[in-house]
Amino acid sequence: MKIIRLRDGKERSLLRRHPWIFDGAIAKGGGDAGETVRVESHAGQFLGWAAFSPASKIRARVWSFDEAQRIDAAFFTGRIAQALKARELFDIQSDGRRLIHGESDGLPGLVVDRYADTLVAQFSSCGAEKWKSVIVDALLAQTGLSRLYERSDASSRVLEGLPEVTGWLASSGKTGITITEHDWKLSLDIAEGHKTGFYLDQRDSRHKFAAYTRRLGFQNVLNCYSYTGGFTVAGLAGGAGHVTSIDSSGPAIERARANVALNGFDAGRTTMLDADVNASLRQYQKEGRMFDAIVLDPPKFAPTVTHAERAARAYKDINRLALSILAPGGVLFTYSCSGGISADLFHKIVASAGIDAGVDAFISERMGGAPDHPMTVAFPEGEYLKGLVLVKRVGG
Ligand code: SAH
Repeated sequence: MKIIRLRDGKERSLLRRHPWIFDGAIAKGGGDAGETVRVESHAGQFLGWAAFSPASKIRARVWSFDEAQRIDAAFFTGRIAQALKARELFDIQSDGRRLIHGESDGLPGLVVDRYADTLVAQFSSCGAEKWKSVIVDALLAQTGLSRLYERSDASSRVLEGLPEVTGWLASSGKTGITITEHDWKLSLDIAEGHKTGFYLDQRDSRHKFAAYTRRLGFQNVLNCYSYTGGFTVAGLAGGAGHVTSIDSSGPAIERARANVALNGFDAGRTTMLDADVNASLRQYQKEGRMFDAIVLDPPKFAPTVTHAERAARAYKDINRLALSILAPGGVLFTYSCSGGISADLFHKIVASAGIDAGVDAFISERMGGAPDHPMTVAFPEGEYLKGLVLVKRVGG
């Protein structure tokens, strides 16, 4: 058994059950890639059993804080069972759902999504990689499913010194899948799509968007960074007169068009633009075009806090433009999925965008990720997605 000994004082975050051990916190010791090591404080006190990652700044991730726990196949079977059980407590109106959300489910480096009859897994740490076959067996046994596709092509793999891998781990066949979310259908491709194929984390926001559209009767809707048209379909389902969708990915826009058809909506109620959002917003502003509702769901501008300043300017810019082309009484659904931007900072950025645009707005809702992407008290980094629903004040 290998041991890593921490520097004096570096045990504090582990005593609060935070699972990451950074390279600078380690005084001595190590292990092979993915090997389970015993983590001890400077004074020799047991802190946890962790998976070692020789190449990563996050040098080890804790599997368990319980000294009596053995890290073996039974451990993974147990953790997966707990994660599946937790999903029964959450309100998830879809057959597309996240079954395992990494650290929040006590399984650092592992993400598993279910799309109808197919599982998609992402192994992004040396520890998860080492236990891959055990994890795959447990997932198939506990879900009763036979199709499992691997999407280990996230950039974080590189930081772990792991190669990018994709492909079937169990069964094979078509990678195009249709899920039923709320009252609508959404098609996706687990091999070609972003992340594991779809942005499941925005499920509740899409539902809310449909409800606002129904209640307020939006006629002209603008869906920025639409991806495959999740919010577009939600808006149409809510009765929107016309939805313009903008995304700079051609395949995403093509699929958005297909998703509109899949739900039986008239293509004449939509405009699909393969374009840059920033440039489009500027153009609308120049033309004096206004919208009753706008969704702004950009990609991660700040993956970590080191990118926060430049990202803050980018967020401010698009929010300023969106607020200026929003009709009085109109509604803006605005998001940041950057781990490096806190909810508080995001609020401040949007506030200063409003000041620059000369617009005030009521904060109608604060949004987060859907509940199957849970946050835990011990792992605040789990909060990455935050959103505000703003209602533009009439006359100001
Ligand atoms: N709201 C979507 C998810 C958006 S993900 C949903 O509910 O599914 C962010 C999207 O922004 C991606 O599809 C990406 O292709 C797109 N994107 C990134 N940069 C862009 C830009 N400059 N202009 C337009 N789209 C962009």
